[in-house]
Amino acid sequence: MDLRDRLLVQVSVRDVYDAVTLAGHPGSGLVFTGQAGHDAVRMARRSGYDGPLLADRRRYAGSARVRGTARLSADWIADQVEAGATAPLTDSGYIGKGDHESLHATLEQAVQWDSVIAVLPVHPRWVAEDRPVLLRTIADYGTPVALVVEDGPPYRPLPLPLLSAGVPALAALAHGAEWAAIGVREVLRHLYPEPHEIRGGWRRGGARSAFVPERLEFVPVERLSDGTCDCSTCRGRPLRRLASAEEIEVNTHNAKVLHRLHNRLLRSTHRERWWRELTA
Ligand SMILES: [Zn+2]
Repeated sequence: MDLRDRLLVQVSVRDVYDAVTLAGHPGSGLVFTGQAGHDAVRMARRSGYDGPLLADRRRYAGSARVRGTARLSADWIADQVEAGATAPLTDSGYIGKGDHESLHATLEQAVQWDSVIAVLPVHPRWVAEDRPVLLRTIADYGTPVALVVEDGPPYRPLPLPLLSAGVPALAALAHGAEWAAIGVREVLRHLYPEPHEIRGGWRRGGARSAFVPERLEFVPVERLSDGTCDCSTCRGRPLRRLASAEEIEVNTHNAKVLHRLHNRLLRSTHRERWWRELTA
């Protein structure tokens, strides 16, 4: 199966039962996150889900994250293939600022496997000042990659697949990336620097945010304004009502409005220009 032009939804393993609701439409697919990701892939396949499925182990995130020089697991690759993943992702560690050793270690290991996607979780300087080196190194190894960009200043979109992103996933697709994944909740839309402070608004289950197409951003449900939404979940009701809705309803709204935006992107004759005008 092809990942081309897909806007995937990155979810937790516990979201497996909501998978079809969140990624049932054409052009979509799922990324299950965490070390049981392959089990969720298997479950989704068994339940008849036929879209693209990936598993991101995410060893690169959190306070116990591993460095990019860590040995990649062959078992993790095999588990994904056996579970029915569309393409296996490496269980890469984090590639810090100027950490060329980690970048090379990850790519060097990844090229030994056939049709494996090398996950490159990078410090934001890699997509800014060090961008030419990053692009050249990736081209030299010639293996497919997926970037995870740690939180930092806005950067010029790259034509490379993205995991665990927010709106930059759409920007990447508009700039020639083969596919990209938008996280279903805040923690899956970011790679936080470590150690990081948890800012206000966090609560059990994670802060819920609704995507507001006019603003092109995710807004915490408590701060939604008066606008209405005509997606098939909201049906013309005010967005603000999502503040008291279940998380699945907020996420279903998100999936629908993002799907619509994604469709517009795919239909545009010049994607980069379309994106530029949209964000102007
Ligand atoms: Zn809606």
